[in-house]
Amino acid sequence: MNARHDTPRGRVWLVGAGPGDPELLTLKAVRAIRGATVLLVDDLVGDGVLQYARKSARIVHVGKRGGCRSTPQAFIEQLMLREALAGERVVRLKGGDPFVFGRGGEEAEALRAQGVAVEVVNGITAGLAAATAIGAPLTHREHAHGVMFVTGHAKDGAAGLDWAVLGAAAAQGLTLVIYMGVAQAATLQAGLRAALPGSTPLAVVQSASRPEQRQALTTLDGLLDTLARERLGSPAVLVVGEVLRGLAALGMPERAAA
Ligand code: SAH
Repeated sequence: MNARHDTPRGRVWLVGAGPGDPELLTLKAVRAIRGATVLLVDDLVGDGVLQYARKSARIVHVGKRGGCRSTPQAFIEQLMLREALAGERVVRLKGGDPFVFGRGGEEAEALRAQGVAVEVVNGITAGLAAATAIGAPLTHREHAHGVMFVTGHAKDGAAGLDWAVLGAAAAQGLTLVIYMGVAQAATLQAGLRAALPGSTPLAVVQSASRPEQRQALTTLDGLLDTLARERLGSPAVLVVGEVLRGLAALGMPERAAA
């Protein structure tokens, strides 16, 4: 905490709302949502999650819903700060886990710098839900010794990831889980191919855990065709690796293309 503010001035809960299915909320998340007087809600938060909010709570949608551009980050931070300082119980609801590609780190820093206490409540991140949705384990004692969660979307102006290096790591037996990868599919496919065979299994899971969930099982080489044919798009996670082999035996839902 900033030395100028030894006693917290207000408190904000950064709460993971999970991938969409309200049953995947943690008990802590439900308690925080119930206690909130103001909720700032991201786009990817499932509607069912808001059933736990008090009737009197003020709910502010700060995503792109309704065709609006998403609310600028600085504005969201200002709003949280203002409401917390006014004594409101502010819950910032984020899809998945607040600290996995959710800008939760930036928000926590900004609030703490102003002397506001921050509580973080974990949520089930989309990558976990996506794997489970298709019946794939993310690790396996025989062929997957770890998992990499990466984003296909670099901050504007920043260099993206080196996909060939990630492909080489995947070839060592690490499952690769890619968030925000659909728009970058051609780039990441080309990079990964430098290190992985085209036959490497790949799954695309859209809207994991929601009623509208859709998925397809393909290969690294089949990625672009599959995205086009199945019309899969955001929000989606790509899973790459040997853990997907034999998925039919593991109960891959029938929509999956072979
Ligand atoms: N904090 C979130 C990630 C936010 S980044 C988390 O932990 O899950 C937004 C990206 O997450 C989306 O572009 C998509 O890649 C992924 N995502 C979020 N919800 C998803 C869902 N229900 N199914 C598939 N992917 C999802």
